[in-house]
Amino acid sequence: MNAFIIPLNGWAAGERKFHFRADTEFFHSFGNTEILDADVNAEATVLKKDAHKVEAVLHLKGTVTVPCDRCLEPVALSVDATPSEVLTPGEGEVDWNLSQAVYDYVCVSLPLQKVHPEGTCNPDTVRFLGQLGRGNEEAEASDANSPFAALKGLFDAN
Ligand SMILES: [Zn+2]
Repeated sequence: MNAFIIPLNGWAAGERKFHFRADTEFFHSFGNTEILDADVNAEATVLKKDAHKVEAVLHLKGTVTVPCDRCLEPVALSVDATPSEVLTPGEGEVDWNLSQAVYDYVCVSLPLQKVHPEGTCNPDTVRFLGQLGRGNEEAEASDANSPFAALKGLFDAN
């Protein structure tokens, strides 16, 4: 898999920005099959104070596509997150892998309710899923259209 690796050696103290593109394959490599499509730009601002003190903050921006909770059609969710946590590499690390952090923060930033904006769900799928849980109402509705229902109305009127 492609990973977001920050080299800790070979550059002078100071601040550097590193970029990584977390794509669909990246999320699938974590075993996440809920994410159908992803294109998230991860930017790490890495501050190297000296050889032993390095800090990074992440900024994540892009979109991930997941099945809608309401109609199951793909819904693109925008990601725009700047986790407040300052990351530090493990003791003695030379290549600092930020992949897990990127994955975790993107997942945490997603809303609990992953749905299309109100009124934009696929009406066919919503109707179909609604019918599954609404068998009785459907039965009553067809009852009202039967000739007997009309007769019933007639008798009621008398
Ligand atoms: Zn939907």
